Amino acid sequence: MRSGIDVAEARMLVLEAAHPLAPETVSAGQGQGRVLAESIQSERTLPPADCSAMDGYAVRRADLAGASAARPLALPVVFEVPAGGRSARALEPGEAARIFTGAPIPDGADSVVRQEDTELEGERVRMRIEPRLREHIRDAGEDVRVGDEILAAGDALGPAQLGMLASLGRTLVRVHRRPRVAVLSGGDELVEADGDPSGGRIVASNAYSLAAQCVEAGAIPSNLGIARDTPEDLERMLGAGLDADVLVSSAGVSVGDHDHVRPVLEKLGCRLVFWGVNMKPGYPIAFGRFEDRRGPLVFGLPGNPVSAMVTFDQFVRPVLLRMAGRSRIFRPTVRAILEEGLEKKPGRLHFVRVALERDGHRIRARTTGNQSSGVLRSMTLAQGLLIFPTEASSIAAGSEVDVQLLDPDWLARETAP
Ligand code: AMP
Ligand code: MG
Repeated sequence: MRSGIDVAEARMLVLEAAHPLAPETVSAGQGQGRVLAESIQSERTLPPADCSAMDGYAVRRADLAGASAARPLALPVVFEVPAGGRSARALEPGEAARIFTGAPIPDGADSVVRQEDTELEGERVRMRIEPRLREHIRDAGEDVRVGDEILAAGDALGPAQLGMLASLGRTLVRVHRRPRVAVLSGGDELVEADGDPSGGRIVASNAYSLAAQCVEAGAIPSNLGIARDTPEDLERMLGAGLDADVLVSSAGVSVGDHDHVRPVLEKLGCRLVFWGVNMKPGYPIAFGRFEDRRGPLVFGLPGNPVSAMVTFDQFVRPVLLRMAGRSRIFRPTVRAILEEGLEKKPGRLHFVRVALERDGHRIRARTTGNQSSGVLRSMTLAQGLLIFPTEASSIAAGSEVDVQLLDPDWLARETAP
């Protein structure tokens, strides 16, 4: 087991153990947020035929040479092509056909005149413009052609992809299974959120933050509950999480006398890969795995609420995203101007919780106040994690810093642009 390693090495060790989960077939309508495990080739041409982009009249352009508002030209309306219909015959010279958006262009026609540029007079329609060739005609296959690769394995399914799958007639798709995460809280002092927190007891809030972080990463959390600080209780409750893909326990992996998680995990057959990462918050994080993937990846996160969330964010989140089939598994980073000076001892990478503000083309960052790992407010107020590098000891006010974006929505506006 490694100890006291740097964040980059810890990240490498956890990701080495993480693989995209096996595919499963789901109904495309339920596929939002899932990641394709197959590429999607089209068996259709879309649109299937040349069709009208407007309500109006299909014409032969040559019949309207020189037409203008001052000198409109009239043509007889000889038939109608409804949306979803098809024309019974071709358009002959000197004729117009009533046509609706999406309806196939009749043979013989080469342009569409918008209804707004016409005037109906009994059986005839007066055209006030000379259309361009193929004006207001959508070409067959302009969207999709038979055999095109429309979506690639690894693409995430969002609204556009789901609409496209429906257009292609794909109602079932192969996607990576979502990772299942068992979440355990450990500690004699812990009570449930609706429990009595008097007498120094503490609400096991990590179960809530960690479960929500799982959901945000596309995983399915299940709460194993609170284990007491006894080897027996821990063994029983950790054992209940062994069929998950990932087991996350918070608290109980420091070196305190009552921390039984490490020996219990080893007894269950989990080999610890590392314990202790040179970071703040969150030094006492442990990672373990079972031989031959016979059990879940196991993360023993620190108990302090901020440490639990930050270590989850840095190590568990990318693992879950990779398991779910995603390739972009790391937070986006931005450069920001730090508004205040920061100091620390060299030796650990600090993830400083910062609030961000847009200032023209720049981003300004200021800390969210008290950075103690027990101060969960520092997370509720944060839009980003400022990277205070391992060996650095100070950052001057006004410097440019790297910030990982925690809140993808932080640029959203309260007022319309
Ligand atoms: P530990 O890692 O057990 O030393 O716990 C560090 C701090 O985190 C202590 O104040 C614990 O009470 C607190 N803590 C432990 N587990 C949780 C939890 N599940 N939710 C919220 N706080 C916790
Ligand atoms: Mg504890």
